[in-house]
Amino acid sequence: MADCLFCNMASGDIPVERVAENDHAFAIRDINPRAPVHALVIPREHIADAREIDAGHADMLAGLFTLASQVGRAEGVHESGYRLSFNVGDDAGMTIHHLHLHLVGGRRLGHEG
Ligand SMILES: [Zn+2]
Repeated sequence: MADCLFCNMASGDIPVERVAENDHAFAIRDINPRAPVHALVIPREHIADAREIDAGHADMLAGLFTLASQVGRAEGVHESGYRLSFNVGDDAGMTIHHLHLHLVGGRRLGHEG
């Protein structure tokens, strides 16, 4: 989508430092980190949010979670642990309407809610 920030990052039209990437997704650091490690794992394909996921996205999701695991290792939180989460829609505070997985860690995390 032409006016989508993450689509423009995926295409390279908006340059951004990538922590890691594979065929299905790329990962960047959040510009407003909530913890010492806060990365976003973003599919190359435009999907508005998790409500649009169906069985046809199986390969993409496998690529997304594989990359998240790689990011956890690269960012040094593989052993200590981290949280993976999707925000879905307005009440969750979703601001960019292109599916993205938050990887948050590097400190002891409280309960979410
Ligand atoms: Zn997009």
